[in-house]
Amino acid sequence: MSQTAVDIQHAAVIGAGTMGRGIVMCLANAGVRVQWVDNNPQMLEQALLAVAETYAHNVRQGRIEQAEADARIARVSAAADYPAIREVDLVIEAVYENLELKQQIFRQLDALLKPEAILASNTSALDIDAIAAVTQRPQQVLGLHFFSPAHIMKLLEVVRGARTAPEVLEAALALGRRMGKVSVVAGNCFGFIGNRMLNTYVLEARKMLLEGAFPYQVDAALQGFGFAMGPFRMYDVVGIDLGWRARQLDGVGQDQPEVQVDNRLCELGRFGQKSGNGYYHYEPGSRQAEHDLEVDALVQQVSEGLGYQRRPIGPEEILERCLLALVNEGAKILEEGIAESAHDIDLVYLNGYGFPKDQGGPMSWADRQGLAAVHQRLLRLEAELGEHWQPARLLTELAQAGKGFAER
Ligand code: NAD
Repeated sequence: MSQTAVDIQHAAVIGAGTMGRGIVMCLANAGVRVQWVDNNPQMLEQALLAVAETYAHNVRQGRIEQAEADARIARVSAAADYPAIREVDLVIEAVYENLELKQQIFRQLDALLKPEAILASNTSALDIDAIAAVTQRPQQVLGLHFFSPAHIMKLLEVVRGARTAPEVLEAALALGRRMGKVSVVAGNCFGFIGNRMLNTYVLEARKMLLEGAFPYQVDAALQGFGFAMGPFRMYDVVGIDLGWRARQLDGVGQDQPEVQVDNRLCELGRFGQKSGNGYYHYEPGSRQAEHDLEVDALVQQVSEGLGYQRRPIGPEEILERCLLALVNEGAKILEEGIAESAHDIDLVYLNGYGFPKDQGGPMSWADRQGLAAVHQRLLRLEAELGEHWQPARLLTELAQAGKGFAER
């Protein structure tokens, strides 16, 4: 039985970038005192100003009273160094996505913080157990995966490591409730629930670009289904260069055919919305994604250069392949116990990934199609497109038993 600070009143956030800013506001909004650390003092200063400006904006919009904004701001303070945060109940780390860096920070925190303090990482995909392993308190370590912008997005993936204590998980879920989040417990694997499924969906979308589709066609098919954004518009918002830089740093995956369009776009400085061009064109100051014929020509050139015989790909095929990729990976996630239920997977997709609410989430969508029909379609795709379409064992079993994911 571990000791744990179940009632979190005082926290620290490490990292004052995009995610740190939103996480600090989530905590302050929930009444938690927050100390903030960043090894770049300028970044921290800018972040404190940005938080104050967000609250001032909320007051101008009439969403909160001035007194409430003042109270929230008063809860947030800069901390000069790690010793200054030694009394906190919880630390949420949100520095660059790099395992060694996170391990180094967790080692330092572990040596300083009271034994009952909880250490959390906001990593998007890294191994929580590998982070926990460098500490003397792996039972007090877990993932708290917020989504961007963290103070607005409802979803919180609470990532359970192999040794995370139940009381620690409970404390995190209680904090999630106080912050008004939809919290979903996920097991530890690359990308957890949401990003692991997203990877298969995006891979399929990228394969279709090489086979004959254009980015605007893929996005239009998915947006027609009701997704808030298709995958290529989403990458323009996130920044196409993030994956490109990560592949360059790791030296892994850069030669994969599916990322060659991204590589070419980045080589041309087309990083997405922030650079005015990505998969789409953006007029200065506008977020309106405009179809760009240059991108279609680039896609065609890349795929033909790789030896593909392009063919027209219609919206039905686009939709089927993207949705079934999500469903089949979701089934594997269930089978492995990474998600506790199909409903949890649906919650992740509805609250973090813009899946259309009226479709109820990918697993519930699959249940409505009938898993026997889904299974048949997967077998057909496997025969046509290769073994990455092999149906998950759980999906095959449920289809044969005439059951749905919800009845599992
Ligand atoms: P960011 O680049 O905007 O910010 C990172 C911050 O960490 C910077 O301010 C930097 O100065 C600071 N930092 C770096 N090394 C440090 C150290 N040793 N000590 C203290 N501060 C340090 O990054 P981000 O987009 O906010 O991402 C942070 C984490 O959140 C990553 O693990 C990322 O994978 C994850 N995440 C990002 C998103 C997203 O959409 N951006 C979504 C979910 C999770």
